[in-house]
Amino acid sequence: MTSLSKLLRRMAVFLCVLAGALAGCKTKGNESSGAPSQPPFMTAAASTAPQTADDPPPPDKTGGFDGKRAFAQVAKQVSFGPRPSGSQALAHLQEYLLAELKSYGCFVETDSFGADTPIGRISMKNILVKISGEQPGIILLGTHYDTLLMDNFVGADDAGSSTAVMLELARLLCPQKGKYAVWIAFFDGEEAVKHWSETDSRYGSRQMAARFSSIGDIKKIKAFLLADIVGGRTARFLRESSSTPGLVDLVWNTAARLGYSAIFLNESFSAEDDHDSFLKRGVPSVDVIGDFVNNGYWHTPQDSLDKISAKTLAITGRVFLESVKQLQAK
Ligand SMILES: [Zn+2]
Repeated sequence: MTSLSKLLRRMAVFLCVLAGALAGCKTKGNESSGAPSQPPFMTAAASTAPQTADDPPPPDKTGGFDGKRAFAQVAKQVSFGPRPSGSQALAHLQEYLLAELKSYGCFVETDSFGADTPIGRISMKNILVKISGEQPGIILLGTHYDTLLMDNFVGADDAGSSTAVMLELARLLCPQKGKYAVWIAFFDGEEAVKHWSETDSRYGSRQMAARFSSIGDIKKIKAFLLADIVGGRTARFLRESSSTPGLVDLVWNTAARLGYSAIFLNESFSAEDDHDSFLKRGVPSVDVIGDFVNNGYWHTPQDSLDKISAKTLAITGRVFLESVKQLQAK
């Protein structure tokens, strides 16, 4: 690369980041790959010795959701190292997720597919927990579990935190039977391989939504609640503006009732994420996503375990549990 092209590329990256910040949109991709090199992830993970100063509320105060357990699930994922789609580390995580979900007594389906990406075909795998209900209708919860393709990026918050929350929700919900079915999706391939676009992003959720459409399940989904970047010590959740307003209200009112208005704020911003795959097919959807634009570590190697709070995980988990309860009562 010539120095002129380097300069042009830097300018393009700067404009892209600036535009993303101004628009508040989730301009994903590996734009910051030109950033100075960072210490290896193991160093970052190892330097986090004392877990967290902000202890989570005990499970009997959160409907059973165990923030410490969720924190340990983030640590476990980080221990596999960077987990981009198609990597050996992600295969290890897939095995781990399936073993965990099985140990909770969950019924689990997997869907392996090849995704055509700008760097060629990548094998991906969606994982879907199905908890049956008494009446027709499905409440869908979801997260992605792959991490951004970037050296030394272990994605503790993106997407270790939301994957941990969904694991903990599965542990609590799999033994239960509600009015409606609850399905919990673990999407592969949310992250862009090169630059975030309609065709280079959300591979797993696009695959699952298309599959649900072809087999007729898409119309049965009453609501889709997506979690992403939900475990930060300094997390703030803003109303995501492309989400279905009624569902945003349901989640934010639930959070307010539980006393979490200081974290679930009434400001709004916009994010492109896995909920778009379902919104485009008419499914009411909400993206509960931390304010990644301002967290200071999004899509950098600093997204490490020391950024994660067991308390934030417990709050997110409780809000999801209570929101599911609200939806089950409708
Ligand atoms: Zn990401």
